Amino acid sequence: MSELRYPSTRGQAPAATLSEAIAAGLAPDGGLYVPERLPSIQSAAFDPDGDLAATATTLLAPFFAGDPLGDALPAICAEAFTFEAPLHPLARPDASLLELFHGPTAAFKDFGARFLAACLRRLRAPDARPLTILVATSGDTGAAVGAAFHRQPGVRVAILYPDGRVSPRQAHQLGCFGDNVHALRVAGSFDDCQRMVRAALNDSRLQAHVPLSSANSISLGRLLPQMAYYAHAALQVQRAHGVPLDLIVPTGNLGNATAAVWTRAIGLPIGRIMLACNANATLPEFFAGAAYRPRAAVPTLANAMDVGAPSNFERIRWTCRGDAALREAVTAASVDDQVIRTTLLAHASAHGELLCPHTATAMHLLDREPVHTQGHWAVVATAHPAKFEQVLEPLLGRAVPVPPTLAGMLARASRAEPLAADPVALAAWLAR
Ligand SMILES: *Cc1c(COP(=O)(O)O)cnc(C)c1O
Repeated sequence: MSELRYPSTRGQAPAATLSEAIAAGLAPDGGLYVPERLPSIQSAAFDPDGDLAATATTLLAPFFAGDPLGDALPAICAEAFTFEAPLHPLARPDASLLELFHGPTAAFKDFGARFLAACLRRLRAPDARPLTILVATSGDTGAAVGAAFHRQPGVRVAILYPDGRVSPRQAHQLGCFGDNVHALRVAGSFDDCQRMVRAALNDSRLQAHVPLSSANSISLGRLLPQMAYYAHAALQVQRAHGVPLDLIVPTGNLGNATAAVWTRAIGLPIGRIMLACNANATLPEFFAGAAYRPRAAVPTLANAMDVGAPSNFERIRWTCRGDAALREAVTAASVDDQVIRTTLLAHASAHGELLCPHTATAMHLLDREPVHTQGHWAVVATAHPAKFEQVLEPLLGRAVPVPPTLAGMLARASRAEPLAADPVALAAWLAR
C-alpha cells in the first residue's frame, strides 16, 4: 500500500500526511483536508466474526498506511469503538434502525470524538505547549468532544453553543464536565459559533500565543471513523440477506453523509443514500438542481441539524469531482417540524418505536418508500430519544426512559459562561 496524501479542498496549501491533517483540523488555506483518492477494499477483506473495532481497523488501514499513527491504528480503534452500532429490527421487515447512540453521550458523535481524542493523544509531544480544542456545537458534538477529552493532560476544550437553542438536557451535558472542559453559551446561532471557531483557527497571531485545534466534523479524525459503522452494517446485511444496504441519513453539516458516500465509494455494499434534512433546505434545493445557496439557519425540533451552510459541503463536492456527479451520488429531502411531530407520534403509538427528532426526519422518508425488494433500508438513528425529552414527552404524554450514562451526567452540576457572538470576544477569552 502506498501512502495516501491529504490535499486541501481549496488547493492553496501543501498536501498533508494523515497525522498532519488530523493535528491541524482545518487546512491553512481555509479548506478541508480530503484523501487524494479513495482506496478500494473488498468485502472479503473483513473478518466475518469481527466486532466494530475490527471492521474499523481493516477499513481504515489504507488511510493510515505509512503514517506515524499507522502502527497504533488497532489500539486507536480498540480505544474508540468500545460500544457497538447495532441494527435493530423495525416493524417493516425491509428496514432496520442503525442505532448510533450507545456511546457515553448518547449520540453518534461519540464515535468520531473518541477516535479523534485517541489520535491526538498519540500525536502530542510530551513537552508540547497546552493545546486548546475548539468546538462549535448545535447540541451533540460538544458533549461528545467534552467526554472524549475530559481530564486528558495538556488539552483544554472550549465548547461554543447557541444559547437557548439546544435542549435543556443537551445544555446540561455541555456544562457538566468541568476541569479542562469549558462550556461557552454564545448569544447567537450555531452558524455564528461555527464562524467564530473558523475565525480563531485562521488567526495566526492568536495561534502564536494559544495553540488551537478543532474538533468539528471538519476534522478528518472525526470523519474517517464514521465510515466504520456503515461498513459494519452493510457487511452484516450482505451476509444475512444477500442485498446491499440503503441508507437514510439525518443530515446537518454533512459529516455523517460524507462518511456514508465514502464507504460506498471504497467498495462496501451500500446502495442508495438519502439525506433527510429538517426545514433548513440548503441541501435539498441543491440536490434538486438549484445552485448551492448557503444561508442563515432556522431553528427546528431537530436542532443538531439546524445548519444553513453545511461545513462538509466543500469536501463532498471535492470528492465527487463536480456537482453533476454529486447529484447522482445522493438525494435529499426536507422534513418540517409538523411532519417530525406526526412521525414521532405515529411510530410511538403504532409500533412502540421511540425516535429522536433527528431520526424522525429519516423515518419519514422511509415511510414514503414502497416495500423494498432489492435491498434493505437502514434508518440512521443519530441520537437517543431521551436527549430530547422536551419534544417527546409533551407529545407522547409519557416519560422516555433515560439510559444510565446520560442519567449519570444529568446528576452532575453544570455551568456555562456567556459569550458575545463575535470572533473578537472568543479571541479575548482564549488569550486570557
Ligand atoms: C450532528 C447530528 C446530526 C447531523 O450530523 P452531520 O454529520 O452534521 O450531518 C444529526 N443528528 C444528530 C442527533 C446529531 O447530533
